[in-house]
Amino acid sequence: MTSGSALESQTNLKSSIQDSNKITNHNDPVIQAKDLKKVYLVGKQPVFALNGVSFEIERGEFCAIVGTSGSGKSTLLNLLAGLEPPSKGNIIINQKSIIGLSENKLVNFRRDHVGFIFQSFNLIPNMSAWENVALPLIFRGTPVAERKKIAIKMLDQLGLKTHIYHKPNELSGGQQQRVGIARALVVNPAIVFADEPTGNLDSVTSSEIMLLMQQISKDNNQTLIMVTHDDYLAQYADRIFRISDGKIIGIEKGSQNEQ
Ligand code: ADP
Ligand code: MG
Repeated sequence: MTSGSALESQTNLKSSIQDSNKITNHNDPVIQAKDLKKVYLVGKQPVFALNGVSFEIERGEFCAIVGTSGSGKSTLLNLLAGLEPPSKGNIIINQKSIIGLSENKLVNFRRDHVGFIFQSFNLIPNMSAWENVALPLIFRGTPVAERKKIAIKMLDQLGLKTHIYHKPNELSGGQQQRVGIARALVVNPAIVFADEPTGNLDSVTSSEIMLLMQQISKDNNQTLIMVTHDDYLAQYADRIFRISDGKIIGIEKGSQNEQ
C-alpha cells in the first residue's frame, strides 16, 4: 500500500468513526418523555392514568418501571411504544418525536425499532419454537431458509437449541418466555419493551429470566424497559422508576446490578 492510500484509508477510518459516534453517542438519550399526560374518559368521569411524566433513557440502559396495579405502568409503556397517543406531552425516540405520526409510520417505527415481551408469552400454539421466533422476519421479507437460520441462532443464544421443534405446550413456562424473548430480539431492535415478563413464572425462573435480560441489554447495547409490580425483580435493572397515581415519585439504581 502506498503512503497516499494509507493516509486516505486512515482519513476514511477517522470519518467513519466520527459517523458511528454520531449514531451511537452514549450521551444521546434514546427515549425522552416530556410531561406525558393520559386521560381516559370512563362515562363522563376522567381517569388520569398518567399525570405529568418526564424522564430520559440512554441507549443500552435496562430500566424498570415499578408500581402497584393501576399506577399507570402499562399506559406508559403503550405510549412509549406508540401504541396509544398521549393526551398531552411529547415522546422523542432517537431524537425524533413520534407524536402525530400516521398509523403507517408508527407501524414502520415499531417494526424497525421495537421488540415486545409479553406476560402471557403470546406464542402461536401450532407453530414450533423456531417458527414463532422467525415470525417478525416474515414482515421484513426475509426468505424462509434465512429465517430459520437466524431463529435457530437466536434460540441457541437463549439456551434452547435442543428445543427448536417443540411447540409451546411442549415447553415449560420459563422456556416459553425464552422463546418470547428470542422473538422480540430476532430483528435486533434498539428498544425492547416488556410488560410484567415474569408475571406467569415462579420466582426462581423469574430471576433466571431477569439475569438473561440484564445480559442481553449489555451484550447488544439494547435499551430495555420493563414494567413490573415486583420490587425484587426491579432490582436487576440499571435504574428503577417508581410510579404512583400516574407520576414518577422516585428514581434509583438497582441493587442486583453490578454497575
Ligand atoms: P398498571 O399497568 O400500572 O396496572 P394501567 O396503566 O393499566 O395501570 O392503568 C392506569 C389507570 O388507568 C387505571 O386506573 C386504569 O383503570 C385506567 N385505564 C387504563 N386503561 C384504560 C382505558 N382504556 N380506559 C379507561 N381507563 C383506563
Ligand atoms: Mg399493567
